[in-house]
Amino acid sequence: MKIGILSRNSKLYSTRRLVEAAKERGHEPLVIDVLKCYMNITANRPTVHSKIQGEVTQVDVDAVIPRIGASITAYGTAVLRQFEVGGVYSVNESIAITRSRDKLRAHQLLARKGVGMPITSYAHSVDATEDLIASVGGAPLIVKVIESTHGNGVVLAETNKAAESLINAFRSLDADFLVQEFIKEAGGSDIRCFVVGDRVIAAMQRNAAEGEFRSNLHRGGSAQVVKLKPEERALAVRAAKVMGLDVAGVDLIRSAHGPLVIEVNSSPGLEGIEKATGKDIAGSIIQYIEKDSKKGPNKPKGKG
Ligand code: ADP
Repeated sequence: MKIGILSRNSKLYSTRRLVEAAKERGHEPLVIDVLKCYMNITANRPTVHSKIQGEVTQVDVDAVIPRIGASITAYGTAVLRQFEVGGVYSVNESIAITRSRDKLRAHQLLARKGVGMPITSYAHSVDATEDLIASVGGAPLIVKVIESTHGNGVVLAETNKAAESLINAFRSLDADFLVQEFIKEAGGSDIRCFVVGDRVIAAMQRNAAEGEFRSNLHRGGSAQVVKLKPEERALAVRAAKVMGLDVAGVDLIRSAHGPLVIEVNSSPGLEGIEKATGKDIAGSIIQYIEKDSKKGPNKPKGKG
């Protein structure tokens, strides 16, 4: 198969590994920078064009693997949609990526399907600060900027007073944010479940550095293999399914009342998980594409 990997940078670990794995399994991989693509939007033959080996040509692939960064979601998913309407198979469809990138929408969809999450309230410029704090059971609580990545916009307020000041500060930023119950018993750890199809193919526990509650590897957290309980596996697979994602990184935390989903990522990195578990995740993704693409393109999974 000709497999297009939609990625801005062919040197990135995940992109390199997908190229390698595709070659190993006898396919022809092609790294496509979505921002360098243009789309010819016509009713009969929608096409994508890009400069390939120095020449602008129509991109002709059988399947695509989207690795679209959060900062280019809009244009990236538009290019992906163009492939989809042109009949090209995509592992993770544009609609599912859009769903998972909008954290509020993702939370609403997961909640509607009964997927367990920490108690969460969303706000923009509320002046009902006390109520908002009470709605998640009071301090300690977490305030998160919606666009947060790598734990940057995630703050812990240990007292109601601190929570109030934080919420007031967020309000003045004119940004969407969420207020969430703090799961203290998680002890600064979370679990990344790597879901492919309807299976968790690998999982790692990430532990926060000393004095930190955020376990992001970018914040000095460390990773190790973890054995999942059956209910954790089932929850991760269900969360990916609700979002309609074939490939997803589902982050869970272990609370006193069972596992809770904190995030579903549509472009989960391969480096941390392959290094922590020693598994060939890229190979599993390619294998999944071989099988799933036989069912044909354009069967949107998930709803909403
Ligand atoms: P980001 O998307 O910026 O990484 P997350 O929501 O994943 O933000 O939060 C970053 C980290 O903070 C998580 O990996 C987890 O360790 C910790 N964390 C997030 N939410 C909670 C919570 N409700 N209770 C306890 N710890 C949390």
